[in-house]
Amino acid sequence: MRNSYGQTTIEPSGSAKTKIRRVTFRKRQRRFIFMCILGIAILFTAIFLIVNNHSSNQSENTPAPNDSQTAQAEPTEGQTKEPNEPSPKEDASALTEIPTEEISATANISESGAKIVYLTFDDGPGPHTARLLDILKKYNVKATFFVTGAGDDALITREYNEGHSVGLHTFTHDYAYVYSSMDNFFADLYRVQQRVQNATGFTSTLIRFPGGSSNVVSTYYDGGTRIMSLLSEAVTARGFTYFDWNVSSGDAGAPLPPETIYENVVNNLKPEYSVVLQHDIKDYSVDAVERIIDYGLKNGYTFRRLEPDSYTAHHGINN
Ligand SMILES: [Zn+2]
Repeated sequence: MRNSYGQTTIEPSGSAKTKIRRVTFRKRQRRFIFMCILGIAILFTAIFLIVNNHSSNQSENTPAPNDSQTAQAEPTEGQTKEPNEPSPKEDASALTEIPTEEISATANISESGAKIVYLTFDDGPGPHTARLLDILKKYNVKATFFVTGAGDDALITREYNEGHSVGLHTFTHDYAYVYSSMDNFFADLYRVQQRVQNATGFTSTLIRFPGGSSNVVSTYYDGGTRIMSLLSEAVTARGFTYFDWNVSSGDAGAPLPPETIYENVVNNLKPEYSVVLQHDIKDYSVDAVERIIDYGLKNGYTFRRLEPDSYTAHHGINN
């Protein structure tokens, strides 16, 4: 037989043909498997490179989750936290920090941590305090109230009788007065301490400075004495313990949806100790508490009241 080139070829017999086909088929099969493996290898290499690249970008953008970073981030919040000086611009910048915090919080949450949450409520008592106490009672959650001269004494009595900590936030909460001198600060502090003692029979030594210990609003009133540096030492020397916070609910400025307050809190909980700043004079903040507690209990957090030896979440002094 001749092929198309005119060469004589030997026509293979039937069984030989089948053998050749089988061999060709096996070769093709091997080549196909090889191509598949090669394809998969290339695909995995590509995925690995993309993921690696992505995570290294992320670590560049994410500040190291150490305490000094957090401490630096909080003071700006501390200055805007207080209802007297809401600043929408700074509030917005505080909100944009959340994703970063969220990354570190979620990353650490699986590590073995204490997962203790201290809910703290400043500036009360007020019109929403009784409702808040009902919510806390429903879940048997203990919290901390940093009270002022506002509201009814009976609410402070109730806070204490229901097992919460009652701390001191100065009587007037007037920056211009309390930060104008050491004498004024202590006069105001002892005034609210006396109020709490009258309402509860208990002498509280827990403090939260108006604006937090990191506030710089005091620079306007202290005549250059760096009063926060003086006060932070003086209160300790007089047997008080001051507390800042490391989770801000963002409830100090303009009203926000309770959903936002809830997210600001739960997305920023710390693996070990979270001191959450809220204000029980804000209805939309109180509205978020039940969901915060529900989230915490379902995710292995324990709610506690602050005691003199609890985690203080100090920001650091800026004045
Ligand atoms: Zn306050």
